[in-house]
Amino acid sequence: MSTETPRAPGAGRWTQFIDDIVAGDWIDPQTHQNERVPYEAIVIDETLAGREAELVAALNLGTTLAIVCDTKTYAVLGRRVEAALASIAACTPVILEHPHADAATVELVRARTAQAGAVVAVGSGTINDLCKYATFLDGKKYCVFATASSMNGYTSTTASITLPSGFKTSFAAHAPRGVFIDLAISAAAPIKLKAAGLGDSLCRSTAQVDWWLSHRLFGTPYSSLPFRLQAADEPQMIEHAPGLAAGTTDAVGYLHRVLILVGFGVSFVGATHPGSMGEHQISHYIDSFAGARHPGTTHGQQVGVASLTMARLQHALLARETPPRIRPTRIDRAELETRLDPDNAQKCIAEWSLKALDERGAAELNGTLEALWPELRAECAAFMLPVERMHWALAAAGGATTALDLGLEPGFYREAVLHAREMRNRYSALDLLADSGELESLVERET
Ligand SMILES: [Zn+2]
Repeated sequence: MSTETPRAPGAGRWTQFIDDIVAGDWIDPQTHQNERVPYEAIVIDETLAGREAELVAALNLGTTLAIVCDTKTYAVLGRRVEAALASIAACTPVILEHPHADAATVELVRARTAQAGAVVAVGSGTINDLCKYATFLDGKKYCVFATASSMNGYTSTTASITLPSGFKTSFAAHAPRGVFIDLAISAAAPIKLKAAGLGDSLCRSTAQVDWWLSHRLFGTPYSSLPFRLQAADEPQMIEHAPGLAAGTTDAVGYLHRVLILVGFGVSFVGATHPGSMGEHQISHYIDSFAGARHPGTTHGQQVGVASLTMARLQHALLARETPPRIRPTRIDRAELETRLDPDNAQKCIAEWSLKALDERGAAELNGTLEALWPELRAECAAFMLPVERMHWALAAAGGATTALDLGLEPGFYREAVLHAREMRNRYSALDLLADSGELESLVERET
């Protein structure tokens, strides 16, 4: 980390290291490369009250701004932002009622912001994804005032949008010009949102294990950079988990730092793998296929529970002294078409086929596993967190730790764990366990 460069505006305790990266001054000590992120300003402070106009003015977003909120975020921060920005631009509030990050709402946001030159999002996951994708499609700039530390999408360049079929997909989009985090607002956010952000961060360990397994077994690209970025902050974030429930600014401060650094990692490697592997596939399955069984939980709440499941599965897999014995992948088209509608069954088959192992692929993988198993176990052990520690942190934050806490029927949750791998061409511990015939019995323990 550079210590000689002048601090960026808004620099302070909470943006140390982040400022250096945003300023383009950080050199990765391992690769000696100057890593850059596409953000002009990331400001985190105990409060941003009174600074809204100054922060947005520095981004040169023009003289007509749409302030996009939902009814709740308008009440907690949007109204304040709108009033403050009136001094620098003509502002139109766009207040959505119970919005979902789906294709229809993206079009609604595009239509209602059509007259504005740029967009100021005030909200968390849904509002940010909607504004990110709508402005990307319209070629407009946007910035975001965060209202909760609920997910890591503030500094990612992808947007999670649900298609009309119900299939949730991550679309390439662009970065907000500025991310502004008022810790007092975040600290006062509903406990379930703060705990969701913790859930979306605890998956670091399970995603790293899955990504590493794929790298070592199939030679897919891997980078340690995303994990090194957050290594110093993760223990602090976990240690402060009880403060999320209590509403301290320290707890949301550490959490926001990790969420931002995860986004940087994704931006640097140009892939979501460091923060989205098996545990995210489980959450995507829930979002896509729970239908009427969907209790309306957020992404991070699901990812937290799914990360505990993945951690247990990975511990069970890697506790073995001998490698699992892999069989060719069996894609049962008829079963898929019974469980899902034909369109989604087809989508899954198309993705799943890309990583499915034939006789030869299974034999090759068994050879690799035989050769690497003791090393692989030791390597993965270095990435893993104790499941008890993850569980403690989620519970201390007031978050869901079980499918029942999420309001999901255990049977459907087990279905999600068992079949989530079919949705995406990413080989994870879920695939290793399924292709060795062990997943089903392990999943029985997950409720
Ligand atoms: Zn996530």
